[in-house]
Amino acid sequence: MRYFDSHAHYYDRRFAEECSMGVDQLISTLLSDSVSYIINVATSLENAMEAVAQAKRYANMYTALGVHPSDTRFIDREMSGYLCELEAQILSSENKCVALGEIGLDYHYEDTDKLTQAKWFEAQMALAEKLSLPVVIHDREAHGDCLEMIKNFPKVRGVLHSFSGSTQMAEELIMRGYVISFSGTLTFTNAKKPKEVARNIPLSHIMIETDAPYLAPHPFRGRLNHSGYLEYTNRTLAELHNISEEECCNITNENARRFFSL
Ligand SMILES: [Zn+2]
Repeated sequence: MRYFDSHAHYYDRRFAEECSMGVDQLISTLLSDSVSYIINVATSLENAMEAVAQAKRYANMYTALGVHPSDTRFIDREMSGYLCELEAQILSSENKCVALGEIGLDYHYEDTDKLTQAKWFEAQMALAEKLSLPVVIHDREAHGDCLEMIKNFPKVRGVLHSFSGSTQMAEELIMRGYVISFSGTLTFTNAKKPKEVARNIPLSHIMIETDAPYLAPHPFRGRLNHSGYLEYTNRTLAELHNISEEECCNITNENARRFFSL
């Protein structure tokens, strides 16, 4: 079985610091063993270059480039110039950039102004529409406002990563052509709500991800996460849909390939 990791951050410093075999060796091993593709997701221009450079070293690693809502507070440049540079990065990635992200809203921490987040989210939705790229959306405790933004861009399609909303929200998103992605949080013993959502929505609109180095699945919760742990999320999803792990792996793999046009 080969799992498609639809969301990971392999340029994150934690890999360099905590991975004993080295991050390059780790990625090579994963891609020749149990992982079909990895989408290496950037969170700002600062790590976009690293994300692309890393992706260029592996045939089956691609990137999503964009500004994460929590990173908007560090930007002291004008938005238009910053986004011009982002667009240039995307266009010069030699087809390695397959989505715009991660973008969205994060209301969990109170250190980033909501209006600033919304301005960046909106501008990047417009950029995705212009470039005909799907979006990777980060939505933490901002479900209503995220949905409103999505409704304002009916031509854009995307994925809600590490989904934490309700079944009703997921259904609304699916109706709009969106896909739902579940991370290791689906396997947590107290993950009643995500499990209920994952069970209630069609498998045809579900992808799996690690969000590595974060969100390692049960029983590795809190440890350094990597794409090799996707089997745990896949197993939970297969159980919820009463199908074999292999079938679940094949379906989520095909869903992600279709979503990222790979
Ligand atoms: Zn992420």
